[in-house]
Amino acid sequence: MQSISVVGGGLSGLLFSYWLKKNNSTDTKIKIYEKNNEIKLACAEGLTNLRVQIKRLKREKLLNQNIRNEINRAIFSVDGEEYRFNFKNEFYIIDRKKLQQNLKSWLEKRVRFQQKKVRDFSEINNGFLVDATGSKENYKTALFSVNEIDGIKKQKTAYFDFRKDLDGYRWFFPHNKEKANIGVVRDGAQKNDLERWEKELKKKGISFKTQIEIGAGSLDCDYIKSNRRLLDKNKRLAKIGDTAGLMDPLFGEGINGAISSAYTLARSISNKKIERYPRIIKKENYRHLKRLNKLSKIQKNNFNKFKNIIRSLNNTNGFKITRPSQLIRNYPIKTLKLLKNMYIT
Ligand SMILES: Cc1cc2nc3c(=O)[nH]c(=O)nc-3n(C[C@H](O)[C@H](O)[C@H](O)COP(=O)(O)OP(=O)(O)OC[C@H]3O[C@@H](n4cnc5c(N)ncnc54)[C@H](O)[C@@H]3O)c2cc1C
Repeated sequence: MQSISVVGGGLSGLLFSYWLKKNNSTDTKIKIYEKNNEIKLACAEGLTNLRVQIKRLKREKLLNQNIRNEINRAIFSVDGEEYRFNFKNEFYIIDRKKLQQNLKSWLEKRVRFQQKKVRDFSEINNGFLVDATGSKENYKTALFSVNEIDGIKKQKTAYFDFRKDLDGYRWFFPHNKEKANIGVVRDGAQKNDLERWEKELKKKGISFKTQIEIGAGSLDCDYIKSNRRLLDKNKRLAKIGDTAGLMDPLFGEGINGAISSAYTLARSISNKKIERYPRIIKKENYRHLKRLNKLSKIQKNNFNKFKNIIRSLNNTNGFKITRPSQLIRNYPIKTLKLLKNMYIT
């Protein structure tokens, strides 16, 4: 019998335990250490449709009952200039708390939960260890609030707001039933950033009624610099989710990385081919992350170029590229391709 300790009962820790138990139910003893009593939300819950990850959730029927809204359009605002795009695939707003609660209730009969903050991994010295502790502090901060809103019953447009003076972005993600998740991400974001964003949205005619929830968290968007090991030399400790550096550096999206790493690690363990885990993760995620990292750097270092990329994407809407040679010369084409895949029908 194999013994596995999972540190962190967030999305990646729960998904990993779920998949491992499903594939390998009698053979493995799992213990999940989670420092918090309750499931903390701290998420805008936007899920870009990266097909392989979505299929994995759908196959297990983990997605459908947890979708708040399916978004099919986006507005990108760059220093006040607005560009509209249609999503190539849906962009889901999910109910992540419910998803985690469902996973937790399924797991409660099958694994042991222990409420404990693990300070040092050597405290747990038997068996295989999974580090699923999420983002560490001191990276970008994200603040969000969920609000009741008047008159947006079936809004299908998400809003992404980029500005030169903001090392990050602001979002507006509508839920289906007159609610929306709004938020700000930047280095050292504070409550007044969120209040300012709310005021600006009010000017756009979005009237907030009641604030239902408010929260904050850190975003570990530094994956390339950190060059983390996904599996230690002794093959005794693996990282999954944010702590494996799988959060995208532009939007701060980490749900897809959590699904990818949880699924792949569970499969690698079940197939007794743990050494394959880092290779599959890199293959599945790094191209996407590298492109977004490049775009994030352009946003930071050359905002005008960033603006031009978004503008030129808008010009190519519907693949009507009139002067491709000019696009190739002026803009990093790989980045364009990536965004085109995501946002343009
Ligand atoms: C405000 C905000 C908005 C976001 N919006 C989006 C979004 O729209 N789309 C998207 O894709 N991603 C978003 N993210 C990122 C997303 O939430 C993460 O990528 C995702 O939660 C990663 O899952 P995880 O399991 O790696 O980490 P987490 O979900 O953070 O789970 C880590 C768990 O480990 C526990 N833990 C940590 N340290 C210890 C310890 N020492 N001992 C025991 N337990 C420990 C924590 O309590 C936590 O429950 C957002 C993040 C924030 C903060």
